[in-house]
Amino acid sequence: MNVLVIGSGAREHALCRSLSLDPQVTALHCAPGNAGIAEVAQLHQVDALDGGAVAALATELGAGLVVVGPEAPLVAGVADAVRAAGIPVFGPSREAAQLEGSKAFAKDVMAAAGVPTARSYVCTTADEIEEALDAFGAPYVVKDDGLAAGKGVVVTADIDAARAHAALCERVVIEEFLDGPEVSLFAVTDGETVLPLQPAQDFKRALDGDEGPNTGGMGAYSPLPWADPKLVEEVLRTVLQPTVDEMRRRGTPFSGLLYAGLAITSRGVRVIEFNARFGDPETQVVLARLQTPLAGVLLAAANGTLADVGPLRWSDEAAVTVVVASHNYPGTPRTGDPVTGLDEVAAEDAPQAYVLHAGTRREGDAVVSAGGRVLSVTATGADLAEARRRAYTAVDRIRLEGSQHRTDIAAKAAEAAARA
Ligand code: AMP
Repeated sequence: MNVLVIGSGAREHALCRSLSLDPQVTALHCAPGNAGIAEVAQLHQVDALDGGAVAALATELGAGLVVVGPEAPLVAGVADAVRAAGIPVFGPSREAAQLEGSKAFAKDVMAAAGVPTARSYVCTTADEIEEALDAFGAPYVVKDDGLAAGKGVVVTADIDAARAHAALCERVVIEEFLDGPEVSLFAVTDGETVLPLQPAQDFKRALDGDEGPNTGGMGAYSPLPWADPKLVEEVLRTVLQPTVDEMRRRGTPFSGLLYAGLAITSRGVRVIEFNARFGDPETQVVLARLQTPLAGVLLAAANGTLADVGPLRWSDEAAVTVVVASHNYPGTPRTGDPVTGLDEVAAEDAPQAYVLHAGTRREGDAVVSAGGRVLSVTATGADLAEARRRAYTAVDRIRLEGSQHRTDIAAKAAEAAARA
């Protein structure tokens, strides 16, 4: 199979790594990719938001499967263009991607499907905003309706900050605050059959102890030793399958990766949000544990034959990923600095620990930083404590001027698992 992956982050590097290990994959391409992906796939330049250009590239390469990584191309209809060119594509249509693209749309689908989520109001006027803030009280949860790369949400006890954020949005969703730990659960679906993956937890804040500003994600781990072993089964029954069924009923079937962001509250599981693609950095740890070859699963989802794929096989090992970010991330990051120590990780720590690239590019023989999140250092181990140790050993070998990373990824979960 000849596969083309669209995207350039550590999530796409993780996808490419898994695809490159699948014996069914005979040629692997990525557009636009990064310096790390270039080691496992052939890179191509393309405007990832231009469906016609992506379809033309896939046709030219003779791709038998296109995998769309990020949300923006999906919401722009890239999967539709590839499908229209007769090429199987892993990723939802533009209409189905509205599950991520519009929080108001997602709320409407959840209401129709009976999926448990925070109570909410969609507001467009100042009066509606005041009423909704008053109805729920502090802490206030105020969400921009459109795509905002995880940065359009404000959770605050300060009513003026809540009002100020709401005033910036054309359409705003104001909702009840959900207390309790968060879980990311991914499922592969062909629009009918739903195959859940293993749950993961990510770390959104920039600094240790969940302090500092929200980011795209600073690390993740899987499995979740503290979670109810029946969690996946329950979420499949109460969230994933009803949502997929409702999308099909509406005539806009959702195929691809359905990502449920969940809060485990004292009153049960609630959906915080849906995404229409693999999450970054959770993908790095989930795929590190997946033993079933990836390409066949994604192709079956693209072709509507997921019912023929048996249950997925998983390693008993734990996985941890630690994001190394540029100076000043998530503000405007400093870029263009050399990244060294990557060879040492490959020589000393592989295959238990490895580096997935995010914002990097090659300059001659050197790898240089090219974005906010630069690397996702990923490791596996017999338990979370071992996976953590290996990940941080590898992180310590890497040198990038001014870089930052959290030192507490999976720390609490590893301690809890050790006590159990
Ligand atoms: P979202 O983009 O909807 O995932 O929101 C980003 C982050 O804001 C989530 O991962 C949560 O940490 C937080 N958040 C969103 N909605 C709520 C809510 N209703 N209650 C508490 N925290 C929330």
